[in-house]
Amino acid sequence: MSDCLFCKIVAGEIPADKVYEDKQVLVFRDINPKAEVHLLVIPKVHIDSLDELTEGDDELIAHMMRLLPKLASEQGLTEGYRTIINTGKGGGQLIFHLHIHLLGGKGLPGFQ
Ligand code: 5GP
Ligand code: ZN
Repeated sequence: MSDCLFCKIVAGEIPADKVYEDKQVLVFRDINPKAEVHLLVIPKVHIDSLDELTEGDDELIAHMMRLLPKLASEQGLTEGYRTIINTGKGGGQLIFHLHIHLLGGKGLPGFQ
């Protein structure tokens, strides 16, 4: 966990372009945006991936889900947005700290 990039962002050891923060969650801009708006929504506690979730995380996950439309609205994504969670190497997960990608606006790539 000490080697986790996103934990270091939560701890303030690595800078990030933060757009929202509360007790449980941090939201910042992806360093390599795939669309005009590309946010990463992460829990402040370290959770490797969806695979590690337990019943004890239910309130946290619900909180993250319900935050998404609010963030999208604040970012001006009135036409809609896309959310992605990559899980495991086969799912394209590169950073093993659970995160939800929130994408929208110009340049949103197709999804096949
Ligand atoms: P994954 O493939 O794990 O779902 O996505 C990881 C995301 O983290 C990628 O979109 C990548 O651009 C982003 N990322 C990697 N390193 C950093 C960083 O140091 N800062 C920020 N803001 N984003 C990062
Ligand atoms: Zn972490």
